[in-house]
Amino acid sequence: MNITLARPKQKLDLLILPVFKESEIKQALKQNKIDLPSESFSADFKKELGDTLVVYSQNDPKRILLVGLGEKKSFEAQSWRIAIESSVNLIKSLKLSAVGLALPQKLFGTLKDFIELTGFAVAYSSYEFEEYKKEKKVNLPKEFIILQNEQSTLKKTLEQGVIIGTAANASKDLSNHPANVATPTHLADHALKAAKQFNFTCKVLGSKEIQNEGMGLLTAVSAGSEEPAKFIILEYGNTKKPPVVLVGKGLTFDSGGISIKPSEKMEEMKYDMSGGAVVLGVFEAVAKLKLPIHLVGLIPSSENLVSGKAVKPGDIIKSHSGETVEIINTDAEGRLVLADALSFANKHYKPRMILDFATLTGAVSVALGDQYTGYFSNTKAFVKDFQKASEKMSEKFWELPLAEEYQTQMKSSVADIKNVGEHHNGGVITAALFLKHFVGTTPWIHFDTGGTSWTTSNKSFAKAGSTGWGVYLTVEFLRQLK
Ligand SMILES: [Zn+2]
Repeated sequence: MNITLARPKQKLDLLILPVFKESEIKQALKQNKIDLPSESFSADFKKELGDTLVVYSQNDPKRILLVGLGEKKSFEAQSWRIAIESSVNLIKSLKLSAVGLALPQKLFGTLKDFIELTGFAVAYSSYEFEEYKKEKKVNLPKEFIILQNEQSTLKKTLEQGVIIGTAANASKDLSNHPANVATPTHLADHALKAAKQFNFTCKVLGSKEIQNEGMGLLTAVSAGSEEPAKFIILEYGNTKKPPVVLVGKGLTFDSGGISIKPSEKMEEMKYDMSGGAVVLGVFEAVAKLKLPIHLVGLIPSSENLVSGKAVKPGDIIKSHSGETVEIINTDAEGRLVLADALSFANKHYKPRMILDFATLTGAVSVALGDQYTGYFSNTKAFVKDFQKASEKMSEKFWELPLAEEYQTQMKSSVADIKNVGEHHNGGVITAALFLKHFVGTTPWIHFDTGGTSWTTSNKSFAKAGSTGWGVYLTVEFLRQLK
């Protein structure tokens, strides 16, 4: 699907017409020079956010897709994404060649930001995961035209939005593949291919090199699996500057190990590599946008399975940092592989800051649900910058405390630290405290996306499956970085 800007005089098969709750449909049609008797269908269209209704006309365009924007006063990035996602999902089932999108009467932010978000949201919504289905249902139009008079100055802006949306889709796609396909080796191969295609470097450490590097925790997590672990190292940009290091959890399947998970919903554990997929998505976008930064990406990737060789509760493992970890629960494996990656980052790079992305706990979704990512940082200054970035595309997060009071929960009587705190006692926080232990004094942000990386039901703004949460937010943060 080609996403472009054009003046509102195109020949279209369908026009998407957004309408606010307080607006008259009649008025909206008139403003777009559409002559239709709105009295006959206005009762069928409630104009609530994401509501859609297709009406037919004898003149061109033959189809008008009315989409509700909800109330004007609450119109923001999320509502615009919902309106676009609802519309694009609907047109997927129609066989159309050219679709137009009229912009609403009232925008938010600058016109530039609005157009970039529109490009992002259209590209993002066009994605559908149907690779394993015999019958493909999606029929995207060839042309998706955003109707806008000042198209020449905004062309590049739109392209940037489309680049970020496409990168988020690449991230979603990696996560959506099942674990029998998306193994650590698959993730590494994808990274090598992406590096070549988008112009960054990629080095992959295999099991032997991981052991030689002293990453005992990653080695232990991977011990129960036949699939070899991979440690993926990405690098982009001006290597003279201290890098921003992105670390992404790459557990391609998490059974919990010997501390095995209940079987209900265990199939969702294919998404446990979503953090790694976000890092790869960010690299794709940053390289295509040619951002003037130095970026390093680290993805410790493994399966967490059960076998005679699997790590056991009570085992004591020496980490990359040299400290020993008592494994209490083998299902708290994400923090183990991340700890080795964080220590690796500090040893080999002098990071300007580290950002990590991980589906780390179920506790985070108990606390914050599926709309807000849990956010922890040892450097307050970043919070504001991320908040500013978040307003632009509405990838939401909520800050949680690195509560030192809970540090005692992580004390082990036989090793330097243990890998879980007390049961049902701030699990999202103690997971973050475990990571903090391996971060040292490096400025650091931890995103626990356990509730936001995927969704199990079709929502108006996101299809069931991976959401790519964090790609746009991080690209925007890196773009604003002084
Ligand atoms: Zn786990």
